[in-house]
Amino acid sequence: MYSVHGARFDVRREYDKLPCQAFWTFITGKGRVLSPEEKVRAMLPLSTGWTVMHIAISWLVIAAALWLGNRALDSTAPLAVVTGVGLSWLIVVNRARSLQASFHYVTHGSAMPHRRLAQWTATAAFTAPFFYQSWTAYCDSHVKTHHHLRALCSMDDPDQQFIAQNEFRPRMGVKTFWWRLWSRPFSPAFLWGQLKSSWFDSFIEPSWCEVFFRMAFVVGIVSVALAYGWFDRLLLLFWVPAWLLFRHSMWLQLITEHLWFAPRGSDAGSPEAYGRLTWGRFQGRPLPSGGVLAWARWFALLFLYDLPVRLYVYPQDLPNHDFHHRLPLAPYHNIADLRRTCECEFSRFGPSYEVWGFLETLCVLRDHLCYGDSNPFRWPASSPL
Ligand SMILES: [Zn+2]
Ligand SMILES: [Zn+2]
Repeated sequence: MYSVHGARFDVRREYDKLPCQAFWTFITGKGRVLSPEEKVRAMLPLSTGWTVMHIAISWLVIAAALWLGNRALDSTAPLAVVTGVGLSWLIVVNRARSLQASFHYVTHGSAMPHRRLAQWTATAAFTAPFFYQSWTAYCDSHVKTHHHLRALCSMDDPDQQFIAQNEFRPRMGVKTFWWRLWSRPFSPAFLWGQLKSSWFDSFIEPSWCEVFFRMAFVVGIVSVALAYGWFDRLLLLFWVPAWLLFRHSMWLQLITEHLWFAPRGSDAGSPEAYGRLTWGRFQGRPLPSGGVLAWARWFALLFLYDLPVRLYVYPQDLPNHDFHHRLPLAPYHNIADLRRTCECEFSRFGPSYEVWGFLETLCVLRDHLCYGDSNPFRWPASSPL
């Protein structure tokens, strides 16, 4: 089912005839249809070895981005500095979000079956360097509470509480909605709140053993940076994207993640009501039928809009967050294919919902929060299909 915003049909079907299917899955966030044998294999959790490999590659890419940013800062050409540092920040944020997404799936048990090793790897490779919630706190707030049939999009949901603290609410004005959406992550109140929660999550809430590790990590890296004279670069090239921009990117994703503050009807807490609270968030548009100018516009939107959105707002599995809520054990590396394969099958969560385009998804939330349209997915697929 579709909303009034964006294409009202499965755009990905048009891309099925193009070469390089993996690229179109990456850009759109929607995968290909799997055969029954492939589907069975795709449901297997990502092994401990492959998860560790994925995490290690992400850190190698972050190291390459830091090298790029450092080289750019040595340049005397202002354009090279701005381009190099901007690109370095984008890569660091993207890998940080990818590490967060992998951490999320590991806590669900759909990657890295070796749980004890998973917990330590997550702390060393993600939660400590990014001042993020500990494994235990995240399992409580996300796996047990946010995913709960009765809690999602209620005031018991920690994610909705966070959005409410940041002044989003039903019946807010349209101008206020857009202003808060774009500016809130840079406001003093938001930054102060994030600083306090980073401190609490890193040095107060975890076990004493983990707090000791996190302190040793920060003191160690800051001491080395000061001793070798690159503390300012560490701050600018790593912690600006890894802390400030990472939280900005998470914020943009979070706003469109669910139908926050959805009114609770008589079926609240049922699988079908739960299914209505979330949808697929895909990027792309129909292939142009016109000439060179139409194709130029289509490619420009692909590389200047869809690609940055996939890298910065919806990295990795996030276009398919709806399917993750329906089947939390679906592993992240196959979720785009699994969602496409299962989306027309009968589900106790009701039909699948989807929106094509980030701005279109924001409009769904605007209509809901500002105009009271709490049933946005009223349109079945239209042509072409
Ligand atoms: Zn989850
Ligand atoms: Zn969610």
